[in-house]
Amino acid sequence: MKTAVCPGSFDPVTLGHIDIIERAAELFDRVIVIVMSNSAKKAMFSVSERVELLNRCIKGKNIEVDTYDGLLVNYAREKNAVAIVKGLRAVSDFDYEFQQALTNKSLLPQIETVFLTARGKNMFLSSSMVKEVCSLGGDISQFVPNEISEDVIKRCKGEKNYDQY
Ligand code: ADP
Repeated sequence: MKTAVCPGSFDPVTLGHIDIIERAAELFDRVIVIVMSNSAKKAMFSVSERVELLNRCIKGKNIEVDTYDGLLVNYAREKNAVAIVKGLRAVSDFDYEFQQALTNKSLLPQIETVFLTARGKNMFLSSSMVKEVCSLGGDISQFVPNEISEDVIKRCKGEKNYDQY
């Protein structure tokens, strides 16, 4: 059984993330989406909220959601994963992702990083862009799954009763 991990912040999950996760689930037997909590980015949703939002949108039977705050390769080794799946948007993603892929390969030679190219319509879609558009009152329906748009809108309007990590 071939397992892949899909790491990210998912703050919040976007249609771009869902597209990558579902395509990964076609390629691998098991996909573990990992909400990484060690990101330097300031979060809008807590890790447990992000997991709940992801679980609401993910349909595939071979997809699971988990959290991790350590070194990604240690998690991958623990789960016997053969690949780290990342989405590539514009050229701007490339330099950083390339560095990360090479570092992860040095730390765990048996792991491959697999890049899936973003769909054209998602090329410029990021969680930060969603938060910016939403906080300025813009329509986010084409950027995030229907299942979570109300939560994002409420949070943008300032219902900040979430636990910051
Ligand atoms: P963001 O940059 O939106 O905060 P994350 O850190 O949560 O995203 O990214 C998790 C993974 O999803 C990364 O591999 C990232 O490149 C990928 N990804 C994010 N947005 C998109 C998108 N619009 N299309 C394809 N892949 C994406």
